[in-house]
Amino acid sequence: MNYGSEILARTVDELMRLPGIGRKTAQRLAFHLLKAPKEEARALADAIIDLKDKVRFCSRCFNASENELCSVCANPGRDPSLLCIVEETNDLLAIERTAEFKGLYHVLQGHLSPLDGIGPDDLRIQELMLRLEQTDVREMIVATNPNAEGEATALYLMKLVKPLGIRVTRIARGLPVGSDLEFSDEVTLSRALAGRQEM
Ligand SMILES: [Zn+2]
Repeated sequence: MNYGSEILARTVDELMRLPGIGRKTAQRLAFHLLKAPKEEARALADAIIDLKDKVRFCSRCFNASENELCSVCANPGRDPSLLCIVEETNDLLAIERTAEFKGLYHVLQGHLSPLDGIGPDDLRIQELMLRLEQTDVREMIVATNPNAEGEATALYLMKLVKPLGIRVTRIARGLPVGSDLEFSDEVTLSRALAGRQEM
């Protein structure tokens, strides 16, 4: 593709690496940045560099964090006997927005997907098992997405954890099947949490 500028072409190529961004969108974004005030474009570049330099994953739950422990894990007011399993930080944020859940989380950083070659070892499952061994978790709420991969992941975790004598529950089916937790509204998500059922 000839953009008349090698740098412009490179910017488009880099933007296209982002999820959900095709060539057309990448071009629109690149031209927007080209026309935008310098400070605006620089602020974006700085944020990306700071993100990579200063934000990491919580050593306990794998939520995004600037510290060893994330703000949820570091909060002494949270109930450590309740553990909510989510696929991604976005899902954790969605549940936090409901302000209903007072326990802790474990972010798997994905879901099982044999077709894409994603198995248990690619997720934070070993870390989860270690956590369950070392802490007193009374109930594990599986809040993976209500789609095929999310259900398969939930089932896998249930089989793994139930023999430990820990209560395993699944968020209720109130969520539209095939949808993503992060796009559910707070009321729906609160209901799904409250109506969780034994697995
Ligand atoms: Zn954490």
